[in-house]
Amino acid sequence: MSFPFQAQRHDTACALAYALATELADPAEPSLQPPYNDIAQFILREQARMMDFLQPPMKLATLGFDELAWLVIGQSFHSAPPEKREKFIRWWKNLPLGATKDFLRFHESLTALALHSRALGAEPPSELDGPAGAVVRDPPAQQRCEVLIIGSGPGGSITGCLLAEAGREVVMLEEGPYLALESCEPFSRQEMEQKYRGGGLTVAMGKTKIAYVEGRCVGGGSEINSGLYHRTPPDILSTWRKNFKVEGIADDELRPHFEACERDVSVSLLPGAAPVASLKLHNGALKLGWKSMEVPRWFRYESNAASESRGSRQSMTRTFVPRFLHAGGKLVPNSRAQSIRQEGGRWLVRAEHGAGKTIEISAETLFVCAGAVQTPALLRRSGLNQNIGERLRLHPTIKLVAQFPETINAADLGVPVHQVKEFSPRLSFGCSISSPPYLALGLLDHPGAARAVSKTWTRQANYYAMITGEGYGTVRPLPGFRDPLVRYKLSAADLRDLADGLRKLAEMMFASGAEKVYPGVTGISALNNVDDLRGLPEAISPGKASLITIHLFSSCPMGEDRSKCAVDSFGRVHGVKNLYVADASLLCTAPGVNPQGSVMAFARRNALHFLNQK
Ligand SMILES: Cc1cc2nc3c(=O)[nH]c(=O)nc-3n(C[C@H](O)[C@H](O)[C@H](O)COP(=O)(O)OP(=O)(O)OC[C@H]3O[C@@H](n4cnc5c(N)ncnc54)[C@H](O)[C@@H]3O)c2cc1C
Repeated sequence: MSFPFQAQRHDTACALAYALATELADPAEPSLQPPYNDIAQFILREQARMMDFLQPPMKLATLGFDELAWLVIGQSFHSAPPEKREKFIRWWKNLPLGATKDFLRFHESLTALALHSRALGAEPPSELDGPAGAVVRDPPAQQRCEVLIIGSGPGGSITGCLLAEAGREVVMLEEGPYLALESCEPFSRQEMEQKYRGGGLTVAMGKTKIAYVEGRCVGGGSEINSGLYHRTPPDILSTWRKNFKVEGIADDELRPHFEACERDVSVSLLPGAAPVASLKLHNGALKLGWKSMEVPRWFRYESNAASESRGSRQSMTRTFVPRFLHAGGKLVPNSRAQSIRQEGGRWLVRAEHGAGKTIEISAETLFVCAGAVQTPALLRRSGLNQNIGERLRLHPTIKLVAQFPETINAADLGVPVHQVKEFSPRLSFGCSISSPPYLALGLLDHPGAARAVSKTWTRQANYYAMITGEGYGTVRPLPGFRDPLVRYKLSAADLRDLADGLRKLAEMMFASGAEKVYPGVTGISALNNVDDLRGLPEAISPGKASLITIHLFSSCPMGEDRSKCAVDSFGRVHGVKNLYVADASLLCTAPGVNPQGSVMAFARRNALHFLNQK
C-alpha cells in the first residue's frame, strides 16, 4: 500500500536534500556541485530501510515540514526557491523541540555522508557460493535438521563451525546476504546499504538518543568492524563470577579459548608503522603520562609490500563460515527467523526467506545467535521473557574532530589502532574512521568547518571517548512491526563521564599539537587551546550530544543466579530444553573493551561444552 501524499513526500525529501547539500558543499569544490539527484535517491532508499516503526512518523514529519513552510515563507517548502528554503531551514533549526532537531539532523547526516562519497558507484554485488549444495539459495518450505543456528555473526559462525566439524548436522539461518568481505569499500556508503541493519539508521530511544550500528549479512558485525581485539578483562570476569554466579570462567578455564580464537582469526599487531592520526592520540597520551597501547587486530598481513600495511581482516566470511561449509554445514542466507516454538520435543522455527516466502525448519536443538538486540527480540516475540531484553548494556561514545597544522590523514589511512586505557574501564579513547564523509558527519555541529572539509580533511581526524557507564536499556518487540524498540537510559554519572571523557580527549589532542578541536555536541563551539577546556560543561546535557555505539551486549545475561540471568553459565536458556543463546547477549555487563574477543571465546567454550554433554 502506498503512503498518501507519496509525491509530496518524495518532492519534499528531494528539495531538502538539495538545500542541505548546497549548504554543506564547498562552492569551490567541483565534485560537490549539483545536481544532487544521487543524494536525494540515497536518502529515499535509506528512509525505506530505517526501523519500520519510525517510517510512518518520518513520513508525517516530512509532510509537516513541507506544510509548515506556508506559515513562514508563504509557500510549501518543496515548491519554494532556494533562498526561501534556506530561510525556512534557519527558522526550523531554532524551534525548541527535540523531534524537529532530530528530523533535520537525520537529513543533514545522510546528506553529509552522501555528498562526500559521490564518486563511488552503487552496483549491487553478487553473492558468494560455497561447496556444492552448501549455500541454500532456494530453501524448501519445510525441512528438518539436528541443530539450527539463527544468525551468523561471530557467535553463530563459531558455534556452527565447531558443531559441524564435530559431525553434527547443522543449518545456519542468516537474515542478510552472503557477500564477500571486499564487496564494497570498508566504512563506505555502499557498506551501509549492503551490510548494515536498517541502512545504519538504528537508534536507542531515550532522553539522549544513541545511534547504534549492527551488521546484517553473513558474518554479522565481523564484516563491518575494525577488528580491534581484547580478551575479557580479569576484573570484569570476577564481577560476573561474583554478581551473576557464572561458572567455569577462571583464568585457566578461559585462556585456551582465547588462545584458540586468536590463532583462528590471526590476531596480530601491525607489521609496520601505525597511521599518523592514530599516533597523534598515542603521543598526546604519553605527553600527559597516560597509558596508551596498540591494540592487536584479527588481520592477516601478506609479505608482499603493497598489501602489507593494510592486510586483510579475518572476518567470519574469511574464517569460520568457509570452515562451516566445508565441514558439511548448510547456510541459508536472506532468511529471517520470525518466531520459534516447541512442538513434540523439537524446535520449530518460522522464517521469511527473501521477499515473502515462508519456510519452517524443525530442529532438535536451537542456538539463537542473532546479536544483542535481535536475540532478545526474537525470544520475547516467541513468549520467552525471563530476564530477556531487560538489561541491555552498551558503550555510549562521544566524538570530536581534531585539526592539526600538518597532514595526518590520507585516503589509505587504514584503521587506527591505538587506545588510551589510563582511565579504563570507566573511560577509553581511540581514533576512529576519518574519511571525508565521516569527518563531515562529525562536524555537523560546526557548519563552517563541515563546509570546508574537502579542503581541510587531510589535517583532521575523528577521535572518540567511550564510557562503560552504568545506564541500561530494554529491547521490546512491537506488535505489527518487524523492528524491536530499543530504549536506553543514561544515568547522571554517565552524562558526567561523557563530559569528562570529552575534556580528557581534547586535552590529549592539544598535548599532541592540535590547533583546533570540534566537539560533537550541539551548542559547544570549537576549542582553540587547552584554556578553552575550562568552558566545557561538567555533564553533557540530555539530548545535546550526537552519541553513538557499536558495542551492544548483556540482553540475555549468563549465570546461575536465576533472579538476574536468562541463560546458565554455558548459554542454555534457564528452564527450557535444547534452547541456547550464543552471542553478545550473554556478556553479563559492559566489558569496557571491544567485545568480539569475548563473544568468540564464550561461543567456543559453550559449543565445546555442548558437544561434551551430548
Ligand atoms: C562498525 C562496527 C565496528 C566494530 N568494531 C569492533 C572492533 O573493532 N572490535 C570488537 O571487538 N568489536 C567491534 N564491533 C562489535 C562486534 O562486531 C560485535 O560485538 C559482534 O559482531 C557481535 O557478534 P554477535 O555474534 O553477537 O552478533 P552479530 O555480529 O550482530 O551477528 C548477528 C547476526 O544475526 C543475524 N540475525 C539477526 N536477527 C536474525 C533473525 N531473526 N534471523 C536470522 N538472522 C538474524 C544478523 O543479520 C547478524 O548477521 C564493532 C561493531 C560495529 C557495528
